Amino acid sequence: MAGKSGKAIEFISATVHELKTPLTAIIASAELLAEELQLEKGSTESRLIQSIIRNARNIDERLSHFSEMSRLLVGDLRFQPEPVEVQGIIRSVTTQLYPLIQGKKQSLELELDDHLPLVRGDRQCLERILINLLTNANKFSPEQGKMKVSAWQDGKEVVIEVSDSGAGIPAEEQERIFNPYYQVNRTGLGKHSSSGLGLTITKFLVELHGGKIWLKSKSGAGSSFFVSLPEAVSDESNSNR
Ligand code: ADP
Repeated sequence: MAGKSGKAIEFISATVHELKTPLTAIIASAELLAEELQLEKGSTESRLIQSIIRNARNIDERLSHFSEMSRLLVGDLRFQPEPVEVQGIIRSVTTQLYPLIQGKKQSLELELDDHLPLVRGDRQCLERILINLLTNANKFSPEQGKMKVSAWQDGKEVVIEVSDSGAGIPAEEQERIFNPYYQVNRTGLGKHSSSGLGLTITKFLVELHGGKIWLKSKSGAGSSFFVSLPEAVSDESNSNR
């Protein structure tokens, strides 16, 4: 991408990268320290280390969102769709997020139909969609909460559902949560300072695939986010199987 916006994006990406590198080291060191010290749960030291880890991860998430949002705003996004298997992508993302899930002693169940058709998708974008939805499920569910990822075929589409047993979203807020910077104002659930950009990016990426995103949720009764993705056309699928 040429011109001023291209330079601005390059600058933002380089800055985000510069910041993320030491941050990754901070997170890894704090996690190791927590393991090494084997502190009593609930002790001041343990709470302080967990707070360092949580806040460092939070900055990391915000940095990713800022970088992605700036790319979306100037239309500089790498999008190379090909026939892909969603099961593999779901498994890889859940493995990647395992420390987050384990950190809150939550459970994560997978229910992926056998023989799902390939979808037409960009692997990295699909990973980002799932990471955003699962990170929210983790963030807005309590310790020992339950999460589940399911996938099934519906006509010429594959539907992925990410559900949680968390705080839920009141009906009157459900449309607004896809707006940039929008966050549901809640009391009593602890602080969840984050960017408010995750679902905006997620919706954009789903629609880039020609898919749809919607949710079912009730305040206090968990949430289910659904993403439908068009099946890859058969010529494409055969050549990539
Ligand atoms: P954030 O960076 O705040 O997670 P998002 O755009 O991903 O931003 O989400 C917007 C808001 O929607 C969140 O701040 C939260 O209030 C609400 N939300 C998103 N996912 C969930 C969920 N699984 N459970 C409850 N609330 C959610």
